[in-house]
Amino acid sequence: MAYDQNNIFAKILRQEIPCIKVYEDEHTLAFMDIMPQADGHTLVIPKYEAVTLLDLPTSELTHTIQVVQKIALALEKSLDAKGIVLMQLSGEAAGQTVPHLHFHLIPSSIHTLKNHASDMADQAQLQIFAEKIKAAL
Ligand code: 5GP
Repeated sequence: MAYDQNNIFAKILRQEIPCIKVYEDEHTLAFMDIMPQADGHTLVIPKYEAVTLLDLPTSELTHTIQVVQKIALALEKSLDAKGIVLMQLSGEAAGQTVPHLHFHLIPSSIHTLKNHASDMADQAQLQIFAEKIKAAL
């Protein structure tokens, strides 16, 4: 599938729309999910223009998954997460709604997740979680 330059995460990467950032380096960005499925729901995206997992070169994937682990550790530390659901939807058929590759890190249980991309969170609340996570990085 061709990469859509106007997808919402491409706009976040170009800083055309805001996000509540927790981490950034040359190759990745991590920020709070705007419709969290649990408190602390964080997204990690590569800056590379990939739609699905299948589009990301291995070298970029290696770095991205290292950042995923880094954020997971910060979630465990800062939010006392006992478990973390790592979710990655590749393709519309899987339920992917934003066509830029991303990894969901959700401090929760698979049995108690809220609905996917359903309810907008309070921005101030998201900011509080982001500050806690950043402090643990
Ligand atoms: P997907 O369905 O593609 O796996 O997940 C997309 C995720 O992006 C959803 O969890 C949804 O809540 C989140 N999301 C959608 N639009 C925005 C946005 O503008 N900002 C942020 N931070 N998250 C978004």
